[in-house]
Order: sequence, then C-alpha cells, then structure tokens
Amino acid sequence: MLSRDEITRYSRNILLPEVRKSGQEKLKSSSVLVVGAGGIGSPVLTYLAASGIGRIRCVDSDHLDLTNLQRQVLYRTGGVGSPKIDLAREQIHSLNPNLELDFRMERFSDKNAKDLVTGMDLVIETSDNFPTKFLVSDVCVENRIDYIAGGILRFDGQVLCVRPGQSACYRCIFENMPEEGSVPNCAAAGVIGAVAGVIGSIMAGEAVKILLGRDESFGLLQQYNLLESRFRSLRITRRSECTCGRKSLPK
Ligand SMILES: [Zn+2]
Repeated sequence: MLSRDEITRYSRNILLPEVRKSGQEKLKSSSVLVVGAGGIGSPVLTYLAASGIGRIRCVDSDHLDLTNLQRQVLYRTGGVGSPKIDLAREQIHSLNPNLELDFRMERFSDKNAKDLVTGMDLVIETSDNFPTKFLVSDVCVENRIDYIAGGILRFDGQVLCVRPGQSACYRCIFENMPEEGSVPNCAAAGVIGAVAGVIGSIMAGEAVKILLGRDESFGLLQQYNLLESRFRSLRITRRSECTCGRKSLPK
C-alpha cells in the first residue's frame, strides 16, 4: 500500500494509464540489484530511486577518483578518496528515504554472485569489464533472473534486456570473453560523460517497464552513437548452441 506522501511523490507516474496506483505498488514491492555505481550506475540508481523501486541492492568496491567526476554524476568533488558505495547510499537515501537500500562495498565475483542475485526481480549490470559482464549473464541465466546489460565506450553505448531461456543473452552475442587487452576500456580509450547518462537512463526506463510486467524489450540490442546522433534497435535471435538454451527450462 502507498502512503499519502508516496501517492504525491509518484503522482507523475501514477497519472500514466500504463502505471496507475497498481503499477506504482508493483514498483514499490520490486527489488533490483545494480552491479556498479559508476558512470552508468549513477543515472540508473538515481532514476530507480526516484521512481520508487522499493528495494535496491548495489555493489561497488571502488573509492572515488578525480577522473570519475567527468561522468559519475552521483558524486561531488568533496567525496574524492571516499568509498563510492557510502557516498552513493547517502545520496540515494536523501533523494528517497522511503526505500530499503542494501549497498555493499564488494566486488561482484563468483564467490558472492549467487548470494547477491538471489531474491532479486531484476539485475542491472553497469560494470566496465568483461569478466563481470559475463559473470552477471551466466549467474542470471542459471538462476533465471531477468537482467539488463549496458556498456559504453568513446561515443557509443548499448543496452541489452535479457529474459533467460526466452530471449538472447549476452553470450548469444559475444560467445566467449575477449582476450584481456584486445578490447579497449574507457580508462584507455575515453568516453563522453553524457553517453553514460543516455545509456543509464535507457536502462532505468527499461527496468521500470520490465517491473511493470512489459516484455517488448527482451531480445533487442539498443545502440546509440553520439557522433552520428543515431539510435537503432536490432532484434537478436538466440544462438541455438548457447549455454542459455541448454539451461533453459519452462518458466
Ligand atoms: Zn545465450
């Protein structure tokens, strides 16, 4: 049930026929894990919290660095040197004190992955490295939890929404992990900060849609290029020999 204060706070959501009070109650009873509180994680966490997602879990193990401030809009200059997860928790709690926040200074690894995704309705992967991206995909496929993967580099960004067993997973597109150093990351090749904002905002919007029960985004790879001012959506089919097919069970 929503309090009077919550009905006011979320009134612009509730006005939408696709949301209404029942949809807002669904968002309140939803739980989301956000992997990473960086450039993409900043807008994701902000919009999830502002939208009233009732339970948000987040993991990040870094300390705030001066180079982060160019795109990680959750943070302020005075926070440089502090654990990002503490700064993020404070910021998100002050935005919306109604939420249950479970923010942990941990790195998403094969040791804690299963524990972190258990009980979550949705996982949002915002990391900047391939081992984490593949691990999130594999653990979500194994546990049949919907997830959204996002990536940015230079002027480009992409988003993939996955319903394991039904739509293409990360491994359906990228079969094996690229060799270390063969694909540049943002630290080596750069990125425009606003591209992180665009991609994170798309991911948060997709999360709200999925939690409201809509499934039209699964199987689409959404791509954005700032230099060409272009958005496109590609329909991705599952690779029949992918592990997500082998592990697929009727839901
Ligand atoms: Zn797959």
